[in-house]
Amino acid sequence: MLDTGTTLSDVIRLIKERVVKVSEVTQFYLERATRLNPSINAFITVNDAVLDQAQKMDDQLPNQEQWEKQPLWGVPLGIKDMFCTKGLRTTAASRMLAQFVPPYDATVVSRLKQAGALILGKLNQDEFAMGSSTETSYFGQCRNPWHLEYVPGGSSGGSAAAVAASMCPAALGTDTGGSIRQPAHFCGIVGIKPTYGRVSRFGIVAFASSLDQAGPMTKTVEDAARILEVISGLDIKDQTTSSEKVPSWSNNLNPNVRGLRVGVLQEFMDKSSLNIDVARALEEVEAFLRKEGASLVPISLPLVKHGVSVYYLIASSEASSNLARYDGVRYGHRAQFDHFSGVTLERFYSRNRSEGFGAEVKSRIMLGTYCLSAGYYDAYYKKASQVRRLLRDDFLKAFQQCDVILSPVSTTPAFRLGERLHDPLQMYLNDICTVSVNLAGLCGISVPVTLSSQGLPIGVQFIGKPFDEQSLFNCGFALEKAFAFYRRFKNELPRL
Ligand code: GLN
Repeated sequence: MLDTGTTLSDVIRLIKERVVKVSEVTQFYLERATRLNPSINAFITVNDAVLDQAQKMDDQLPNQEQWEKQPLWGVPLGIKDMFCTKGLRTTAASRMLAQFVPPYDATVVSRLKQAGALILGKLNQDEFAMGSSTETSYFGQCRNPWHLEYVPGGSSGGSAAAVAASMCPAALGTDTGGSIRQPAHFCGIVGIKPTYGRVSRFGIVAFASSLDQAGPMTKTVEDAARILEVISGLDIKDQTTSSEKVPSWSNNLNPNVRGLRVGVLQEFMDKSSLNIDVARALEEVEAFLRKEGASLVPISLPLVKHGVSVYYLIASSEASSNLARYDGVRYGHRAQFDHFSGVTLERFYSRNRSEGFGAEVKSRIMLGTYCLSAGYYDAYYKKASQVRRLLRDDFLKAFQQCDVILSPVSTTPAFRLGERLHDPLQMYLNDICTVSVNLAGLCGISVPVTLSSQGLPIGVQFIGKPFDEQSLFNCGFALEKAFAFYRRFKNELPRL
């Protein structure tokens, strides 16, 4: 009944049809999460109360009307450790917040709970979501379930690994510069970064507030649509959320791409800079789209080449400001002093922050503080903001010629643990294909299509106009049907 091929939509159906109880579903995932975590390290915290909560739901199956209001009733989800969860430790994978138990839920978490979902646990990530490999976590690196010597991607690596290894049926991630899409690609699952403003950021640990968005990470496109429907929409607690209507994406899925104009982003399609298996996968996707009657439109956006520079200036600047709140006084890690004589307030802050933050976070704070300081602001932060604006204009212009844009998610499949950890430039360049989507406030989806010659998953990215998530889901749905990644390879991971 429940196995590693079970999707979120399957779980919902099985509960609804009374084939399984909520507690059985929870037990199934809890057992896998507990058994596999020592090798994968996808969970930072498992919710001890979840089985009790599930048992209480066993005898109160909703009626038809309630189902519509609670479409995720009884489904246990994994939540990236960036989201505040009331009464459940939320660490951002940092020593700084290692003991932090939030007194409230993030808006998306409370919406999931209102929809009937349970929280199975909190998932591993790069510290404060800064990274592309989930190797900077204070709680230890996470591993790729397809090959334990490889990274799961990042920063939402725990979410991707947990879903791929069926430690939970679906998860939430956050994406500031690619952190949902890149790990989804590395782990062979679906991940969507919604349009900026689609999903509330209230209660999400802030990294770079003008770029951060939350989104689902799932086995199928339909599963992603179902979760995004629940978490999207206006929230008075986040002034940047949009009042744009939230469509029923899952009911409108349409795999027919006939007549669709697909822009092919030339700057990222240069075969010489792509891994050969990634290039081949893109060729296959292009051939499929052509065969199905879509028209492929070559488009050029020269500014995307500056995406990584612009992103790291802006994201680090915002991070340096957002992370100023962790001083060890109001909350956050507090250093142990033997005595306080001669300890100035400055030394106190400095010790708390030196001990609380890891190396990658410190280097971003320093970079960001430098960019924002008098004398450098105009040359760095302001200039980067101007290029960002031009980049958005260029994208919007390109969308006059096409409906969606096809590109790689990353130039390679997953890389080996440790391979890039001490080479920040290599690590940052890894984000070249994803960061522009955040800078321009667009939406992007990563959909798995095939395995590399080494047996590692490969996905492709579709980029959409602001608030046109439906086109992304439809393109993903078309590839899912044609390439059948999920059906073909769903038996690859049970050996874990
Ligand atoms: N890898 C990028 C970074 O390190 C993106 C991270 C993210 O999207 N949270 O900043």
